[in-house]
Amino acid sequence: MSGEYLDNFDPAEGEVYDIIPDSDEIDVALAADAAENAFPAWSAASIEERSKILMKVASLIQRDLGEFARAECVDNGKPLALARNIDIPRAIKNFEFFASAIVNFSSESHSTGGVVNYTLRNPIGIVGAISPWNLPLYLFTWKIAPALAAGNCVVAKPSEITPMTACMLSEICIEAGLPRGVLNIVHGLGPKVGKAISSHPKIKAITFTGGTKTGAEIASIAAPMFKKMSLELGGKNPNIIFADCVPNERFGHKGNYEEMLETTVRSSFQNQGEICLCGSRIFVEKKMYDKFKTDFVERVKTLKVGDPLESATNQGAIVSKQHMEKILYYIELAKEEGGKILCGGNRVTLEGRCKNGWVIEPTVIEALPYNCRTNMEEIFGPVVTLTPFETEEEVLMMANSTEYGLASIIWTENITRAHRVASKIQTGIVWINCWMERDLRTPFGGMKNSGVGREGGLEALRFFTEPKNVCLKI
Ligand code: NAD
Repeated sequence: MSGEYLDNFDPAEGEVYDIIPDSDEIDVALAADAAENAFPAWSAASIEERSKILMKVASLIQRDLGEFARAECVDNGKPLALARNIDIPRAIKNFEFFASAIVNFSSESHSTGGVVNYTLRNPIGIVGAISPWNLPLYLFTWKIAPALAAGNCVVAKPSEITPMTACMLSEICIEAGLPRGVLNIVHGLGPKVGKAISSHPKIKAITFTGGTKTGAEIASIAAPMFKKMSLELGGKNPNIIFADCVPNERFGHKGNYEEMLETTVRSSFQNQGEICLCGSRIFVEKKMYDKFKTDFVERVKTLKVGDPLESATNQGAIVSKQHMEKILYYIELAKEEGGKILCGGNRVTLEGRCKNGWVIEPTVIEALPYNCRTNMEEIFGPVVTLTPFETEEEVLMMANSTEYGLASIIWTENITRAHRVASKIQTGIVWINCWMERDLRTPFGGMKNSGVGREGGLEALRFFTEPKNVCLKI
């Protein structure tokens, strides 16, 4: 409608490969009108009907999985194998999960002394969904699927940096028979389209995933309008490794050192470290610090940095030039703050089609104070720091010292300590002896400046419905 367009880049080539609509507030208003018109029929449709259409969307993405994976890889710079094995299958699962969850969803009733209370959980109306670039289709559908399942109409904005799979999703939804106006995808910039969604009076709830600063901007607009809000924001997650991971022959226990090492490489560098759940601050118990450092750096050096389309590649391109420059800035800052680079630290120049790509080596830094800027601020790239600790109290103090509270990882064979540390750590998600194990029924989200509210399972269906209590005397 605006008639304006934005460039869309392939980060592995560092070149424009497409254009997307540069929509404005008029487009958002048209989308909200379309959603308003579609709402009466969609909210009145039976849950089986809604569920069937969402299942159909899932099966059509599955049919086109190869094309979706390639599009995600080219748009974002992530390795093709990751898009094929994780991102797109998870988008499919999001639709399947909420198509099934809504059929099993029930509300509460309470009875006492001749009075019955029952709670109706009705759709809210029109919901705004705004998502980031790091897991484009995965996070976009994580918001859209429960909102639609619960009977809402949606105005949704994908990141302008990775719009391609959202574009493909809109075609799939038409093919699946989703009625017109139920889902309205508006492409464009955050300060234009995102802001117009946050401030539109017909949009009654906002589900947002992105940076903490953007979350605060959205809240400053949406809160005085009394919109419901779910904000999933930044993180600076601790990965705490106790020395009992090391096999101890004297006591006859094998430990899970190998698994810890392999998982820690993934939790540090998967998706180029551009996952809000990556463990970017690695705390290692002093007595095994040197062993861990040697083994970890050796593994990190074997990661294959290269063309995301090649199957051997573990580390692809950074999503944008601006983001690459931000990461390189933090690597320089780490040096100024006294950090020692153990491996990586530089931009990589690849051969062939990726010669101008935005690529950074996986970087490991040590010898930084726990409370320096490098250890406090979110970098969101392939950069981790190593910090030794001596006691549980000390590591908890360091782990809890940032403004963030999204996720944490704990490695120990001591079950009592595992539970004790989990109870004291200030994060919404705690993984013990694993990382990124996801059960979609669990509450997902962060505390402190990592967000407000929880997504997933019942939490999502409750967020996307308006409870109404009815009290009846019998
Ligand atoms: P971002 O905040 O810059 O952008 C996120 C989305 O918000 C984009 O669609 C953007 O266009 C839009 N936006 C920007 N300005 C806006 C405004 N003023 N009003 C409304 N919308 C606006 O974040 P990003 O750089 O795309 O993503 C990286 C961030 O996302 C990191 O901080 C990361 O930790 C966070 N993240 C969090 C989670 C989580 O579950 N907590 C998951 C993934 C990413």
